[in-house]
This record gives sequence, structure tokens and C-alpha cells, in this order.
Amino acid sequence: MRVAWIGLGVMGYPMAGHLVTRGGLDLTVYNRTASKTEKWVSSFKGRSATTPAEAAAGADFVFACVGADDDLRQVTVGPDGAFRAMKPGAVFIDHTTASATVARELQEAAAARGLGFVDAPVSGGQAGAENGVLTVMCGGTPEDYAKAQPLIAHFARMCKLLGPPGSGQLAKMVNQIAIAGLVQGLAEAVNFGMRAGLDMEAVVEVISKGAAGSWQMENRHKTMIHGKFDFGFAADWMRKDLGICLDESRRNGAPLPVTALVDQFYAEVQKLGGGRWDTSSLIARFQNLDKAK
Ligand code: NAP
Repeated sequence: MRVAWIGLGVMGYPMAGHLVTRGGLDLTVYNRTASKTEKWVSSFKGRSATTPAEAAAGADFVFACVGADDDLRQVTVGPDGAFRAMKPGAVFIDHTTASATVARELQEAAAARGLGFVDAPVSGGQAGAENGVLTVMCGGTPEDYAKAQPLIAHFARMCKLLGPPGSGQLAKMVNQIAIAGLVQGLAEAVNFGMRAGLDMEAVVEVISKGAAGSWQMENRHKTMIHGKFDFGFAADWMRKDLGICLDESRRNGAPLPVTALVDQFYAEVQKLGGGRWDTSSLIARFQNLDKAK
């Protein structure tokens, strides 16, 4: 079986690695910045390619994990894109967080060429990718998913087909909507407790075992207390994702008032210079408001 991987970023680099170390697969990899391709090949012994098309030639499966909709279009249907080189019957598996619209568009373009396409955005962050324990939300036909799932399993703890093409991206939107308000609530709670003079690490040790407990509370209360925001998913990426959610809500009519507000709070974080800070940096807005007083 021949496998290609496009996009060796924070997420793609370790995910592709698991296909070799856990899956024993033979990979050809492409990354826009060639230095990352060289580093990956020297660690995992695959082959390197200079374009997505070259990587995808003759592959049975082609994976991608790039930035946003237009990046994904470039590496699939662009002039050097993978689709033109893939053989009929091959499946493209996309782990980028993108819109449901682009997922449906690419699934149709793939089908017209006799290719499969699965939209498969992930949750679990850099640590989840490095430890191979991601949650993967899939959209596509049952036939394409059945082919893709055993490979995805090499870096996933949970993987499920949630409906037709685009459903994986829609599920990822649900995930991001659920996170946005929760992180803002946590930022308000931690800031309130600190102002009240409480030992917030002690408070969280207690309340995280009760009804207020959450993954964000367990994993992000310390970054909020100490104002150190270098632990993962960046505010810039979160704004991209919330923009996708807000666009989709205009189509399906679901009100997202809190999500829209939190999106604006992340815009303030970006203005503070925090575009690359992780999402728990919402608390920095309060510290900045204090400074302005
Ligand atoms: P990243 O470190 O910035 O990596 C992005 C990758 O995409 C790089 O390999 C980049 O190539 C490549 N790329 C971007 N635009 C491209 C283009 N037009 N043509 C070719 N290659 C292109 O980002 P990441 O953190 O791995 O995230 C990747 C995706 O996963 C995003 O959609 C993100 O929202 C999603 N995601 C991320 C996390 C997280 O915690 N980081 C969690 C869940 C989901 P270069 O090396 O040349 O820049």
C-alpha cells in the first residue's frame, strides 16, 4: 500500500509519523517549506516530493493537514494539486479544519475523477497528535470511510463517521462552539477568584471534581493563573475556526451570540500581540483592562 502526506505542520508532522511507527506504512511526504520535509524524512525514512501531485502519484491514500479552505484547494485541485495525480479508487483524507462547503466541493471534484474523499478534522491539539490520541470527526460515504478508518486509527483514540461529506467539518464546528464559551467562562472565573484573593490552584483542585469540571479547567487553569500562553492551539487558528462557525450559522439560522462575542474577544487578544498565544489567553484581556485603569 502506498500512502502520501501533504502538510507537515504542528499536527501533520507527528500524525504522519504514527503511520510509519505504528502502522509500518511506506510514506511519501510533501511540505511547502522543504526543510520540514527533509527533517521528517531523516526521522521516519520515507520519500520526499516537491509538489502535492508528485507525492500523490500512484498512492492508494493521500492525507492532508494544511491551514484553511484556500490552502486545501491549492493542494488538491490547484495546478500541482494531488487530485490530478491520484489513481482511480484512491482516497483523499483531509484533516484540515475547513468549511463544510469546501469539503462538499472537493468530495464532488474527487468523485468526478473516480476518487474518494473523507473530511476528517481533528480535536486534541499538539499533544493529542504527538501521543496519537486524537479525536477524528468524519464526513463522507460509508465506503470511503471504511477504507480510511483503519489508517486513521494509527493516531486516533476516537474516530467516527458522522454523516455525508461535510459532516466532519460541521461536527468540528460544534466542538469549537462548545469550547469558545466555556473558555471565556473559565477565564472569568479564574480572574474573579484571583481578584478575590483566593489560591486559585487550590480552588480548581476542589471544583474540578464537581459540576464545573472540564478538560479546559484541568488543562488550562494553570496557564490562565500564570499568564503563560504557549501551550497549544493559537488564537489566530481559533478566529479562523470561529469565522467558519459564524459563516455556517448564517446559512443554517442557528443563533451564536456567545460565539460571536468570544470571537471579538480573541480579536482583542490578537491586538495585544497574542495571535500565537493559546486559546486560554482570553484572560489576558482582563489583565490589560486593569493596566488601562
Ligand atoms: P501549522 O503548524 O501552521 O501547519 C500548517 C501546515 O500546512 C504546514 O505544513 C504548512 O506548510 C501547510 N500549508 C499551509 N498553507 C499551505 C498551502 N497553501 N500550500 C501548501 N501547504 C500549506 O498548523 P497546524 O497546527 O498543524 O494546523 C493544521 C490544521 O489543523 C489547521 O487547519 C488547524 O486549524 C487544525 N488543527 C490544529 C490544531 C492545533 O492544536 N495546532 C488542533 C486541531 C486542528 P509550511 O510548513 O510551508 O508553512
